[in-house]
Amino acid sequence: MLFDVDGRSVVGTDRRDLTVRTDSASDIRVDRATGDRVIVAPARQERTYLPPRRMCPLCPDPDGRSSEIPADDYRVAVFENRFPSLSGDRGRCEVVCFTSDHDGSFARLSREHARLVLDVLAHRTVTLLDRDDVAEVHCFENRGEEIGVTLAHPHGQIYAYPFVTRRTDAMMRSAAAHRAATGADLFASILDEEVTAGVRVVIATEHTTAFVPYAARWPAEVHVYPNRAVHHLGELTDAEADDLADVYLRILRAYDAMYAAPLPYIASWHQYRSGSVEGRLHAELFSIRRSADKVKFLAGSESARDAFITDRAPEDIAADLRAALR
Ligand SMILES: [Zn+2]
Repeated sequence: MLFDVDGRSVVGTDRRDLTVRTDSASDIRVDRATGDRVIVAPARQERTYLPPRRMCPLCPDPDGRSSEIPADDYRVAVFENRFPSLSGDRGRCEVVCFTSDHDGSFARLSREHARLVLDVLAHRTVTLLDRDDVAEVHCFENRGEEIGVTLAHPHGQIYAYPFVTRRTDAMMRSAAAHRAATGADLFASILDEEVTAGVRVVIATEHTTAFVPYAARWPAEVHVYPNRAVHHLGELTDAEADDLADVYLRILRAYDAMYAAPLPYIASWHQYRSGSVEGRLHAELFSIRRSADKVKFLAGSESARDAFITDRAPEDIAADLRAALR
């Protein structure tokens, strides 16, 4: 599917020589000790790994033979992942190409183009949340080889899970407990407290607030909230979506200004079905780079116990980011 700024979306013909997927292509298993779900997807071992530029599957190609996108050019394109972790009637994996410019990045998109990407994510989120087999839609971007990116072309991914992920489940439990104890929405309380404290706020505009969370786990961790509570990107007004795109771009540009090389990062959108009691649209961004020449590795405490240790105070992370804003 190709998306353009004038609101047109075009469904292209899929000319890919796809291997036929079977239900056994991936398997969702539950760890009986913890209740965690693990997606077992052996076919992903075969996925394209850092192909040479002329073989880039995300660059436009009129023939559609060397690329996934049979078009002369495009603004934003979406297609089903050729190597999906989730498929069939148990979820779906899509790829979102942010731009046809192979050497571009999200941070270097115009505001209008960034807004188009958010509109495309809204379109896909609403469409996928409408499916009975989908419990949660996760739009995210992995940027940088250090993060494990296997294609250099600027792109993000959408995972439509047939189950609620552990982090979302934990957040919903916290929100329900907070509502039971105080009668208030947890995410409204968090935003109010951050705005009042101020010390961790990175950007505050009429419609959007970006802050480093009180208990940040990752280097350069920033959460971006629309000031009005909505469940997903599709519920934003035009003015709110424009402002969110602008703040999001400013954060990504600050990321790239922090060190000599662009910052590797993960940007993750939290979205919920319209009408859900708990849950509020927001983005969580973070890096694994903790200084110009050091990467944070998830070692024993983090990997084996999920107990994070951070060596930079969240208040100092916020100061670093404010200094990097242009
Ligand atoms: Zn490319």
